[in-house]
Amino acid sequence: MVILKSGAEIKKMAVAGAVVGTVHREIVEQIKPGVTTAELDQFAEKLIRKQGGTPAFKGYRGFKGTLCISVNDEVVHGIPGDRVLEEGDIVSLDCGAIVDGYFGDAARTFPVGKISAQAQKLIDVTSQSLNDGIEQMLVGNRLHDISAAVQNCAEKAGFTVVKDFVGHGIGRDLHEEPPVPNYGKKNTGMKLEPGLVLAIEPMINEGTDQVRLLDDGWTAVTLDGQLSAHFEDTIAITEEGPKILTRV
Ligand code: MG
Ligand code: MG
Repeated sequence: MVILKSGAEIKKMAVAGAVVGTVHREIVEQIKPGVTTAELDQFAEKLIRKQGGTPAFKGYRGFKGTLCISVNDEVVHGIPGDRVLEEGDIVSLDCGAIVDGYFGDAARTFPVGKISAQAQKLIDVTSQSLNDGIEQMLVGNRLHDISAAVQNCAEKAGFTVVKDFVGHGIGRDLHEEPPVPNYGKKNTGMKLEPGLVLAIEPMINEGTDQVRLLDDGWTAVTLDGQLSAHFEDTIAITEEGPKILTRV
């Protein structure tokens, strides 16, 4: 069931969203060669709690981190730990927070030191594909207009869209209806209505779109070992257009 949100609920979600957006804004300075993913995770947890939020992923189905941290060929759901980031890596941070019962969810892929031109292109295209998807979040459009815009941006650049994981509705639960694939046909899917709040989250690969799960039961990696990037925002559809709740 799709749960539409009132204006008051969207205001509350904006508070949760700002907590997450602040983590992404502040954590940039921590991302450098030599830092461990556990250190980034601790930084994020402290900052969420300082803002009055609760980490949304910690304890979710037994996940032990505040962030999902996915490096290079890791697509999503990487577990923070001893891994040391190295010059030239790209690192995807996915962050969720709960404030007053409402969730915010957003991801960014960051460079570690100096990265290759191809890695930078993958980051730029993934970020752009999210923005192209958000532009379609207009009352009267259809759900897969978002999906098609994301897919078109990624494939036009020669990259592929991960099909095994999708975006989602969000509100009082981290994952609500409807699922939002990052691929699909324009003019299909449910009509977009005011009060629909979605987490749009393209996961874009340099090579194959196929992924596999590591033995840890969480981390998804590209099947060919090539790079993957991930951008996500939580966005409300309003009569005035899309309102991005997780950028500060
Ligand atoms: Mg997320
Ligand atoms: Mg999400």
